Amino acid sequence: MQADAVKGPSSSGRQTTDGRPRRWALAGTGRFGTWTGLLALSAGAAFLTSCAPAASPPRPLATVRSVAAPPPSVASSVYRLAPPAGPFSRAVYSLPVRRREVFITIDDGWYPSRRVLGLMRRRHLPLTAFLLERAMQEHPRYWKAFVVAGGNIQDHTVTHPVLTRLPYSQILAQVKGQAAAIRTLTGRRPLLLRPPYGAYDAAVLRASYAAGIPYVVLWTASVPPGPDGYRGERLGIATRDGKPLRPGEIILMHWDPGLYGALRYLLSVLHRDGLTVGNLPDHFTR
Ligand SMILES: [Zn+2]
Repeated sequence: MQADAVKGPSSSGRQTTDGRPRRWALAGTGRFGTWTGLLALSAGAAFLTSCAPAASPPRPLATVRSVAAPPPSVASSVYRLAPPAGPFSRAVYSLPVRRREVFITIDDGWYPSRRVLGLMRRRHLPLTAFLLERAMQEHPRYWKAFVVAGGNIQDHTVTHPVLTRLPYSQILAQVKGQAAAIRTLTGRRPLLLRPPYGAYDAAVLRASYAAGIPYVVLWTASVPPGPDGYRGERLGIATRDGKPLRPGEIILMHWDPGLYGALRYLLSVLHRDGLTVGNLPDHFTR
């Protein structure tokens, strides 16, 4: 167990977890070199292009481009997506932004880290945690501290199933169950759902909307963990098109051992590229 880990998962906990993409095509050199790669989701690939209600595959919402000078006020510097009319939630892969910012999202929650909390406080780092209900309930005090440190907690279901393989009633129960638990813990309803494995279809979008969560948030980039989580030597950043990170991208990570080091690595790359970390929920309207 990592030295700073609050507490490891229960013996049964890890069995339902994961959800990480299993296969990444990467190219690059060195731990701190520039890594680029292609997102090659094994479990999620089919689902990522199988979004009905539209017949065509889901696309990123907007062309992302940087702007030379930041606008004068915060209010005018943030695009907020308009909520969908229903009955389907809106799938989002990246965001239109005016500033050179990206968004860090961290899934599951089995290995909370005190060092990550310290990093958030020191760097004013607004992280988004997509938590499983089971993982969240193992460390409720930690997650309250996470919110106080500037983090926000969003819905990743109760037990991490492949939602597209469930009947509608069970999809709804998975999404609603964790939404209720988040509200009980934090006092706030979640605004965003990340379906495990990125697997969604029309039924998932409909259940999410019915559960009061108007956005289903996927990703365009990740810091993929290896077989030993983030503890291995080779860290890299994988982007969907193999190019360096661009403003508006949503980055996937996991609450795995070594997350602190992986975040430090990611922040060093962002700093080098002149990118900052934005607060994801600020870009959505309920
Ligand atoms: Zn997951």
